Amino acid sequence: MSLKVFINGTFYDKEDAKISVYDHGLLYGDGVFEGIRSYGGRVFRLDPHLQRLWESAAAIRLEIPIPRQQLAEDVVKTLRINNIQDGYVRLIITRGAGTLGLDPDRTSDPQVIIIADHVALYPAEYYNKGLQIVTARTIRNHPAALNPRIKSLNYLNNILAKIEGQQAGCIETLMLNHKGEVAECTGDNIFLVRQGELLTPSCDAGILEGITREAVCEIAANAGIPVHQMTLMSEDVYQADECFLTGTAAEIVPVVKVDGRAIGSGQPGPITSELIKRFKVLTAS
Ligand code: PMP
Repeated sequence: MSLKVFINGTFYDKEDAKISVYDHGLLYGDGVFEGIRSYGGRVFRLDPHLQRLWESAAAIRLEIPIPRQQLAEDVVKTLRINNIQDGYVRLIITRGAGTLGLDPDRTSDPQVIIIADHVALYPAEYYNKGLQIVTARTIRNHPAALNPRIKSLNYLNNILAKIEGQQAGCIETLMLNHKGEVAECTGDNIFLVRQGELLTPSCDAGILEGITREAVCEIAANAGIPVHQMTLMSEDVYQADECFLTGTAAEIVPVVKVDGRAIGSGQPGPITSELIKRFKVLTAS
């Protein structure tokens, strides 16, 4: 059976789920999105995802043409109609079809799209053995150019960094900001463990404020592990006892090598493993 895709209140077979080639989401990456997980039929942290979606939309002066509560219900409906318990939801709001020019005022009908699909996780070996990543030469977008807090459809900045990583044989890539500080990876936030405490770049570093990042901060607080949001440099990464990434699709994945340098013991560390265990409990509850 074909997956059903929600577009503006109607469900279409995946093959027939289409929008205009004049949509500014396609022409210019003009739109916003969210990636959301469902575990055992329950949507994980839907409210914070919707909050972030609304904030991203407001930042680009895009009015979401559907009330928040309605969209929440439509997300659940899309999972149900596709009979997906453990899955991934992609929620997309485009600027809508317009002229070939940039002008957002000359567009009509923002498109509301919900795709529910099965989740494509990193292969299990990465969770057991840890990832090797490299730092990209491409820096993360300057916040005064396109603030990384906005989860926009324009991901070329991250894609360029990802290509660099792929050329070095890595599936994820670390990005610095314009000041040379550690920001985040192309689709994940980064954490370090130093002397039993968690360190992660603060929002001022120019990052997406990850929902998983927030969940990990809460889990750590409950486990009595101090968390510091602070400025971090490459040297902090190289000298860390442990390193891991967080993201909706990846959850928590250990990193064991950065730029060819082993992090800590070169194996996934005990605090990372403990947080992974606690995160599993959280998503199962
Ligand atoms: N940073 C970037 C650039 C991302 O695209 C994402 C989402 N894939 C994250 C961090 C992690 O955010 P979340 O935990 O909300 O998925």
